[in-house]
Amino acid sequence: MYKCEECGLIFEEPRKYIDDTGEELLVCPDCIGDYEEVHQCECGEIISIYEKMCKNCKKDTIIRFKELLKQFDEEQLEYINEYYDGEEIK
Ligand SMILES: [Zn+2]
Ligand SMILES: [Zn+2]
Repeated sequence: MYKCEECGLIFEEPRKYIDDTGEELLVCPDCIGDYEEVHQCECGEIISIYEKMCKNCKKDTIIRFKELLKQFDEEQLEYINEYYDGEEIK
């Protein structure tokens, strides 16, 4: 899946386009603009393939995490910090 950087069109197949110099280019089928490869975030939002989540889902994750942290007291949080210090949380 691709998204045009010029007009924002989402498409599956780039269009072949021959420019003035005779060079064959792949372009947006609608406006001949440049495009980037995209995929769908879990929520349905279209995002770059270099991102795992859209901005909203990232924000949501942090909000949910902060909500979760409220369930622990100071000492527990301190221990969690110590336990996960520099480690991957899973
Ligand atoms: Zn376009
Ligand atoms: Zn999302």
